[in-house]
Amino acid sequence: MNFATMTDWKDQILSKLNEPQQQAVQTVRGPLLILAGAGSGKTRTIIHRMAYIIHVEKVPAHYLAAVTFTNKAAAEMRSRLLNTAGPIGSECTVRTFHSLGLYLLRRNAQYLEYPENFSIWDDSDQQQAISAILEKFPGKFNKTQYRYFANSISAFKDKLVTPQNLPDHIDLDEYEFNDILQEVYQLYEARKTASFAVDFADLISLPCHLFEKFPELLTRWQNRYPFWLIDEYQDTNFAQYKFVQHVASRDKNLCVVGDDDQAIYGWRGADVKNILDFGTDFKDATVIKLEENYRSTKVILDIANGVIENNYERMAKHLFTSREGGETPVLFTAADDVQEAAKVVSLVRQSLTDTPASEIAVLYRTNSQSRLLEEAMLNAKINYRVYGGLSFFARKEIKDILAYFKLIVNGKDEAAFARVINTPPRGIGDKSVEKILTARIDSRIGDFTDLLAQGDQNGLSGKARDAAAKLAEQLKALRKKAEARADLGFFLDELLEMTGLAKVYEEEDRLLGSGRMEYVGELRNSLLNYQRQTSQATLGDYLQQISLITTTEDHEAEKASVSLMTVHNAKGLEFETVIIAGFEKDLFPHFLAERDGDISEERRLFYVAVTRAKSRLYLTQAERRMRQGFYEQSKTSPFLNEIPHGLLRVEKGYSVGGSAPKPFKQSFIPRAPAAAKPTASSSPGFGSGINPQNKGGKFSSGDKILHSNFGKGRVLRLEGDGDSQRIHILFDDGKTRKFILKFTDLKII
Ligand code: ATP
Ligand code: MG
Repeated sequence: MNFATMTDWKDQILSKLNEPQQQAVQTVRGPLLILAGAGSGKTRTIIHRMAYIIHVEKVPAHYLAAVTFTNKAAAEMRSRLLNTAGPIGSECTVRTFHSLGLYLLRRNAQYLEYPENFSIWDDSDQQQAISAILEKFPGKFNKTQYRYFANSISAFKDKLVTPQNLPDHIDLDEYEFNDILQEVYQLYEARKTASFAVDFADLISLPCHLFEKFPELLTRWQNRYPFWLIDEYQDTNFAQYKFVQHVASRDKNLCVVGDDDQAIYGWRGADVKNILDFGTDFKDATVIKLEENYRSTKVILDIANGVIENNYERMAKHLFTSREGGETPVLFTAADDVQEAAKVVSLVRQSLTDTPASEIAVLYRTNSQSRLLEEAMLNAKINYRVYGGLSFFARKEIKDILAYFKLIVNGKDEAAFARVINTPPRGIGDKSVEKILTARIDSRIGDFTDLLAQGDQNGLSGKARDAAAKLAEQLKALRKKAEARADLGFFLDELLEMTGLAKVYEEEDRLLGSGRMEYVGELRNSLLNYQRQTSQATLGDYLQQISLITTTEDHEAEKASVSLMTVHNAKGLEFETVIIAGFEKDLFPHFLAERDGDISEERRLFYVAVTRAKSRLYLTQAERRMRQGFYEQSKTSPFLNEIPHGLLRVEKGYSVGGSAPKPFKQSFIPRAPAAAKPTASSSPGFGSGINPQNKGGKFSSGDKILHSNFGKGRVLRLEGDGDSQRIHILFDDGKTRKFILKFTDLKII
């Protein structure tokens, strides 16, 4: 499209829209709600409305802020906006809520009394801080209960509840450990503040608190962005809702779009009422409904509608499509989860003959399903990308190095310190670490580099003192190099050498084939790429840029890859071919929802999954699936019965490379031989559910092992004895798992 010669933007924009969409686009000022079903053009309307406001209403593009939920959706919105509005579209702000919150906090860090380069704590940083706090309550808790506290604290923040006003807003009787919950929350906040850090929930709640405390900041933001557009509004939680209310309350140029049938974040505090009450919040709101689905074929839409109709309390919506006919969707049943993955790969292959990889998606209900699918894709040499999963940045070696980066940029970051101090092991015991942390509180020296350097004063002696001093020197030297704006790739190499990490990873790779240095190489690529794109880039800038990454937005690579993601991450996206894996009871719908007796949110999730497909839809299921080292018999998803008759072809008993095994009588049986995983069959020690090597206490902590399902790892400890003896293993993927030794296929390597 030649933008320079295009004179009549108005016609150009409106010609791409149907009537109600045109009406929405032309309603430029005042509150506007578009409540409509999947694929009806809500996001398209947002994009065209932005183009219209810029080109027809002549509002400066930088006055517009659009917000959506996932990084991929934001990236897609940005590129669709450039296509529609031309290069000026890049002046609009298009971000996720979290990235917008971070942007605000970085620029206004002084209100928090933080430096601009404050850290962002992820789940494991949070875990570290909360575990340390729980130790103050001896005998009462074990470290693993940190998750309960972490979740509760995040939920409080999503409701804008602070430690101080907690008793006024929360009915503590409904919470476990309610005698100390408030105190833990308070201690956690103190620890986090001392580290100059914010956590994920803070990215939304802190801006809200700041807006209330500092009206001049709110005014500045209202002046900065007089036009707001919010996609997927049905999934806003209270803090996000408040954020929108604040920024849009003065000018009221607020357009929100959403679909109550796609509300899938209730479990995380999102409240569909926010969209249903929009008309009450803004009395003069214009409400527009869109009824034509332009995305999917009729048969796909009929499946989605057939299932969602089983939910109560829906807004009445009539979606139609003119895409009559189309391929009949198919449900395939494989003998087990490995064969299911093979089937998924063969469906992908088949689709690749006439569809680009970027138009094919494999969706699953839970993150843990991705590993088998990834393996199958790798073996078949199909380019794929996992979205939303932290597959790269969650790897141990990457987290190790990033912790160093963080500590170098922000010497006060306790979570980064806790990771760095004994990575690689340098003989500084827990007691010494605790001494440093205590000294930090007593001496009010915030920077860990200084604390490490003054080991003597802080009660360290001998080996620990020397090791701490050495680490302090390394950190200082590295900080100097970082400040000198050195080549970041070179900086990484120096860090790896100086700290000894390179040696450790190389050794592990050699002995275990862990591939750590390969991932470190990927990190180097990421650093170099970043530096190439951003001249004068610093280490701090890099950390800021990756802090919100759940996907790396590399469009070239994206074009040539099949997408793998959870259904939650697929929200708002569309693909020619969609394969939904794991269409089983207890998986989709998820067993927790079934246990709680309410699967309506799971049904909406299924509706989201199905409506991602434009032309082809496949469902797959496995007759048995491995869970914690055991095969469990599965049943088909109860949603199957809700799909209207004749819309789905059911292919039974599918099996790749052989006949399907006979149905299993037991519902819970140990892992069977070879069938599940070809690589396992060649390894001695595998083959039966009960591993003879596991009897007689052959394992001890520190042993390197190979697990039939989870691969390589190291024994952390053994627990109990006899038949119920358990073994805790830290696997190369960074996860710790616990098994009953007797039933686990394990061997020392
Ligand atoms: P979801 O609820 O899944 O987020 P949505 O309502 O945001 O869906 P869009 O993604 O905006 O829907 O649109 C779905 C598809 O239909 C897109 O490919 C879009 O370009 C196309 N589409 C929407 N409206 C029209 C139209 N008036 N003419 C042609 N194509 C359209
Ligand atoms: Mg959309």
